[in-house]
Amino acid sequence: MEKKKVVIIGSGPAGYTAAIYAARANLSPTIYEGFFSGIAGGQLMTTTDVENYPGFPDGIMGPELMDAFRKQAIRFGTQVLTEDVESVDFSKRPFLINGSKTKMEAESVIIATGATANRLYVPGTNDNEFWQKGVTACAVCDGAAPIFRDKELYVFGGGDTAVEEAVFLTKFASKVYLVHRRNELRASKIMAKQAEQHPKIEIIWNHTLEKVEGDKVVQSVTIKDVNSGKEDTRNAAGVFFAIGHTPNTAFLKGQVETHPNGYIKIKPNTTYTNIEGVFAAGDVQDHVYRQAVTAAGSGCMAALDAERWLTSKGEK
Ligand SMILES: Cc1cc2nc3c(=O)[nH]c(=O)nc-3n(C[C@H](O)[C@H](O)[C@H](O)COP(=O)(O)OP(=O)(O)OC[C@H]3O[C@@H](n4cnc5c(N)ncnc54)[C@H](O)[C@@H]3O)c2cc1C
Repeated sequence: MEKKKVVIIGSGPAGYTAAIYAARANLSPTIYEGFFSGIAGGQLMTTTDVENYPGFPDGIMGPELMDAFRKQAIRFGTQVLTEDVESVDFSKRPFLINGSKTKMEAESVIIATGATANRLYVPGTNDNEFWQKGVTACAVCDGAAPIFRDKELYVFGGGDTAVEEAVFLTKFASKVYLVHRRNELRASKIMAKQAEQHPKIEIIWNHTLEKVEGDKVVQSVTIKDVNSGKEDTRNAAGVFFAIGHTPNTAFLKGQVETHPNGYIKIKPNTTYTNIEGVFAAGDVQDHVYRQAVTAAGSGCMAALDAERWLTSKGEK
């Protein structure tokens, strides 16, 4: 069985940045870029313009940016395997990686499998409908887009993130409606108060999203009162889901310590997990920032941590 110094699992900004740094440190990394587990290239493959990644003053299309990451990793000698990791064995070293086609041993592993934004699937929100044409799951990424300027926007959710996203969107929108299916926000009291007292935010209690309609972009939402069943169709230019993310850790089957919300636990200011030689980077360990540039930054940290750890073990 082939044995590698560094195996990277996941091919978003975190995974490819880790690969670039590990390859340039002569560690000849292998990256499992995924197949069924998500889109190879990660979450940015599902978006159009990325306007906030430094170095691209005119913005860049998500897939174009990820293609450049991939090419850069390959240029320095990264081996890319287009398959999923189905399971791992971290109980002893070398670690064992079970890919859908390949088995491999690894002295060190960087987990960069990201997180999946939870979405509501109702008519109008699907990929071939208004997803990314007014329907999105990231206010920080998309809120400043011209289609949302001075328009009425709808945020769905009831936790701290939903309130944060609603408040963020008030910078651009004429009005933000925060729609929650219950009669009380799950958000902390202080956050809930911020939403309730904000002049540009109106909370719509006990309602769910039923339908999104438009022409080229979103024009309206239909929401339903959960008590009376009455439906209401309203003008809307944007629909923002703020109903959490699911970190992609199922394949680890509990072998790495996680927080109660499923995100991988790391030692503060490092990418070290509780297993020596296993590192985690990007959204799979970050439920706070969740941006491409922060994911790339922690991918760099993971490669440097892995390299230094291998050197300390005399394995580099
Ligand atoms: C619609 C949308 C728009 C966004 N827009 C922006 C933006 O404009 N600017 C910005 O900074 N951020 C944006 N983000 C957030 C940004 O995409 C993420 O923060 C970033 O992609 C996280 O990078 P990552 O490398 O941690 O993980 P991801 O990008 O999630 O990549 C994870 C990778 O792991 C792979 N994988 C998962 N499980 C396995 C497995 N078992 N085996 C092998 N591979 C596996 C997946 O296929 C995927 O390739 C957006 C997100 C979304 C959803």
